Amino acid sequence: MAIERTFSILKPDATKRNLTGRINTCLEEAGLRIIAQKRIQMSTAQAEQFYGVHRERGFFHELVTFMTSGPVVVQVLEGEDAIAAYRNIMGATNPAQAAAGTIRAQFAESIEANSVHGSDSAENAATEIAYFFAGTEIVG
Ligand code: ADP
Ligand code: MG
Repeated sequence: MAIERTFSILKPDATKRNLTGRINTCLEEAGLRIIAQKRIQMSTAQAEQFYGVHRERGFFHELVTFMTSGPVVVQVLEGEDAIAAYRNIMGATNPAQAAAGTIRAQFAESIEANSVHGSDSAENAATEIAYFFAGTEIVG
């Protein structure tokens, strides 16, 4: 176990329903510290590059449309084993399969509008953080 940083997004379905405070409480109660945070409107180009790994998937276009449909909150989270810890409290991609008590089980509307994003590896966490934040915006 080590102190890690991971990248998080509170997605448009969460900002739209005014859930950012409740989700942040879940993060903080799980021991994750929000060491950078800003509310942005993602551009189509940003969303396409961010989700580039899914470019060939049938849901890619809809996903980009959804992620640009309203404001998002991008965050850097820090804590013990933060990457796995956040994936655990997020729950499965499909809220119907997410464990009880997870963020997606509590808040997600659908497999697409599933309230949160969290990095899935240390390498992706570093890339995703650098994509949205300057070093000076991260205060650990
Ligand atoms: P996760 O966010 O759990 O890491 P993925 O990386 O597989 O999941 O997918 C990225 C995002 O794409 C998901 O969070 C969700 O918003 C959307 N998505 C994934 N699978 C589907 C699907 N079958 N239909 C529609 N949207 C999907
Ligand atoms: Mg993913």
